Amino acid sequence: MHPIVQQQKKWFSEGHTKEYSFRKEQLQKMRKMLDTFEKPIINALKFDLNKSEYEAYASEIAFLKSEIDHHLKNLKHWMTPEKVKAPFTHTGTKNFIHKEPYGTVLVIGPWNYPFQLALAPVIGAIAAGNTVIIKPSELTPTVAWVTKKMIEHYFPPYIISVVEGGKEVTQKLLEEPLDYVFFTGSVKVGKIIMEKASQQLIPVTLELGGKSPAIVQKDASIELSAKRIVWGKYTNAGQTCIAPDYLFVHHEVKAPLIHAMKKYIKEFYGERPLDNPDYVKIINKEHFDRLSSYLETGTVVSGGSMNSEFEKMEPTILDQVTWADPIMQDEIFGPILPILTFDHLDEVIEQINRRPKPLALYYFGSDETEQEKITNSISFGGGCINDTLYHILNPNLPFGGVGESGIGQYHGKASFDTFTHKKSIMKQTTKFDQNFRYPGSTLGLALI
Ligand code: NAD
Repeated sequence: MHPIVQQQKKWFSEGHTKEYSFRKEQLQKMRKMLDTFEKPIINALKFDLNKSEYEAYASEIAFLKSEIDHHLKNLKHWMTPEKVKAPFTHTGTKNFIHKEPYGTVLVIGPWNYPFQLALAPVIGAIAAGNTVIIKPSELTPTVAWVTKKMIEHYFPPYIISVVEGGKEVTQKLLEEPLDYVFFTGSVKVGKIIMEKASQQLIPVTLELGGKSPAIVQKDASIELSAKRIVWGKYTNAGQTCIAPDYLFVHHEVKAPLIHAMKKYIKEFYGERPLDNPDYVKIINKEHFDRLSSYLETGTVVSGGSMNSEFEKMEPTILDQVTWADPIMQDEIFGPILPILTFDHLDEVIEQINRRPKPLALYYFGSDETEQEKITNSISFGGGCINDTLYHILNPNLPFGGVGESGIGQYHGKASFDTFTHKKSIMKQTTKFDQNFRYPGSTLGLALI
């Protein structure tokens, strides 16, 4: 066994993590750790991804702080055994659900929000009484290094530990006798993780990706739709799992929507986004080249310029796109927004339903019947009506995919539940016995 897995399993089996006071103390330490290491984290995010201080704080650090606060506020209540009712055949019994941690959890992180996505599952796992091994992405090595230093400063390795490395390291860890695996990343790797975990029947949560549509109906507020789509799409240069991947717009409002989106791109990123020091870079050359090749089909109606030296690409809008184009085959994960048009909402529903279930979906339109129609007739992880991304910031909304976009959910109580086994207990009375269940009872037969 890997020495860290061994240490964590020993610590867990000794029962230290079961108490509320222990879990609360770990969450408080984590909160303090975020304050102390705020500057190094911001610097590391700037170095690896060119994230601005504002974006680093808002989308990574602040999110984690509020998630910890939410857990601290509710943990005692969540941990309390839940009493449940029983049928009359169980008269005299007490029935409850005991909340039990799984044990040692492996959290595998991606590179796009490398700090937030490596740490957010850890909050739930620790709150639920587990020990945690974090495997951050190797594509953001500075963030991985700071994460390791920070965790080592605040936690002994038998409670939380960071193991750096690439896929070989992850695959080796998956051979360990882990009790839970929480993976955030691509669909392709998600399948590998699940297959590996299945060898030992280790339960998994898979937070994956996919093509998330933004649909704009002709009765939508064009200005607000444009502003919120531009924000959701180009934050982190489009490298957001729940970013609107493509736009489905009613043909009557396409022109004014493009016009308004161009205006907001200029307002948010300036006349020359490539020169904006706060505009996020593409993670590496491989992804930069992949994104550049998407511009070989369709018509660029906004942006399109690139800087290959700094691996930056302007916020780009691509018109005249069809489902057959390369950009519509896979998740884009970059600052290009292709546009498809529609006449009737039914076409939109039919075309989305023919493809893998999206992680997110955004509908812009004012008719409530149509809003409900979209919600009821397309299966997707979660999303917004008349907004983008914002649903992820409500801790009371479980976050996760469905079908190819993922298995399981987290954030807020959903995180605590994810890392908790619900052990059902029935406590029988010894004051009397009911004979109807025993062989020979005619009442028993009647009940069956
Ligand atoms: P990725 O799947 O390439 O890598 C994720 C992690 O898996 C990394 O830590 C990496 O080291 C490890 N890994 C890679 N190949 C592996 C292999 N063969 N065996 C074992 N481990 C392996 O994903 P990424 O490129 O880091 O992130 C981008 C993807 O993640 C996008 O598809 C995006 O949609 C998705 N994502 C999803 C969410 C979500 O919450 N649902 C959030 C962020 C990103």
